[in-house]
Amino acid sequence: MDLPETSSPHRSLEHFLNQELDGIKKAGLFRELRVLDSPQSPHIATGGRALINFSSNDYLGLASHPALAEAARSEGARGGFGSGSSRLVCGTLTAHERLEAALAEFKRMASALCFSSGYAAAMGTIPALCTREDVIILDKLCHACLVDAARLSGAHLRVFPHNDMDKLESHLLWARSAHAGRRILVVAESVYSMDGDVAPLREMVELKNRHGAWLFLDEAHGVGVLGRGGRGLAEATGLEGHIEIQMGTLGKALGAHGAYIAGCESLREFLINRARSFIFSTAPPAPVAAAAAKAVEILAAEEGQGLLCRLWNNIRHLGTSLNQPTATSAIIPIIIGEESAAMQAGRQLQGLGLLVPAIRYPTVARGRARLRVTVSATHSSQDIETLVQAIKPLVGIP
Ligand SMILES: *Cc1c(COP(=O)(O)O)cnc(C)c1O
Repeated sequence: MDLPETSSPHRSLEHFLNQELDGIKKAGLFRELRVLDSPQSPHIATGGRALINFSSNDYLGLASHPALAEAARSEGARGGFGSGSSRLVCGTLTAHERLEAALAEFKRMASALCFSSGYAAAMGTIPALCTREDVIILDKLCHACLVDAARLSGAHLRVFPHNDMDKLESHLLWARSAHAGRRILVVAESVYSMDGDVAPLREMVELKNRHGAWLFLDEAHGVGVLGRGGRGLAEATGLEGHIEIQMGTLGKALGAHGAYIAGCESLREFLINRARSFIFSTAPPAPVAAAAAKAVEILAAEEGQGLLCRLWNNIRHLGTSLNQPTATSAIIPIIIGEESAAMQAGRQLQGLGLLVPAIRYPTVARGRARLRVTVSATHSSQDIETLVQAIKPLVGIP
């Protein structure tokens, strides 16, 4: 069949896309993918060059740990790779159940439910809990998936300045009077992904209890870093029993892929029935679940303690050298300000054999561009010294 040509150039998709891309380039915000020719680790190869990698969220080096690869391999050899359908249809495999039992025990919560990613966990859980009549109050620096999930719910949204508990309280007071009798959900992270600082969890718990709200805590960068055995900020502060909904990811410090929501037994049952990203999505492959379960096992064992000890030695080493001796996580940002200056610093470091990502709008606010240094248990002290010597003159640290 002969189809008529599109008549106007403005109707052409490609024309539209190129115009948009030109705009992104002119604003200095164009992004491209970088392909690694090596495994994820502190020493990577890309474009034929060796780089020391300070950009990964693989804080414990588990992404390339042989035991995770072996767990995935043997699960695949026994049970195959694909799961074939949604968990609710016929895709729930013993590997999923085993992982969820291990996560519940690790988090000392009654239950856990896994999702195919952190993004999916947020998008499924938050709109299941809150609808148009309810109120969601978020920290200004919450991750994009938390913001998108809150928007999708249709609830009334309020944002408080980062870690500002006075403003959180005034939003809670407003919600209680303007939306009396409705559900109120406070959404926060334990460690903020681009700033590396930690939420004032005790105050937040007191406030949400006083005003009858629930707390959703995203521990994406807290699990595997904070608390005994890397159980996260909730454990580190002894507040585990006071946080209704705890989210964590399996693809960062745990070195695998996916995410979980931990909470009471009814939360798991409810999400199985209401979380659309869980219901209408194919179950993660069993080998992925087996690798994540192996990571949880390592964390709970002596090996995990050794990795956490090395991670925190590296955090202290780097933090002290970069004038941030009170670093509270594996993320150490160096604020540059202007987008182009941050990009330039990132390129200069790359020229010196160091991969440190420059982070800019829209990931962080305009004018708050930065170098985001992340450190791992598997960096050597020589790796860290190399970074420190390169970075200091670039950003004016004496
Ligand atoms: C990475 C991240 C997510 C998303 O998790 P994925 O498993 O990568 O989809 C959610 N929240 C925070 C704070 C994150 O940093």
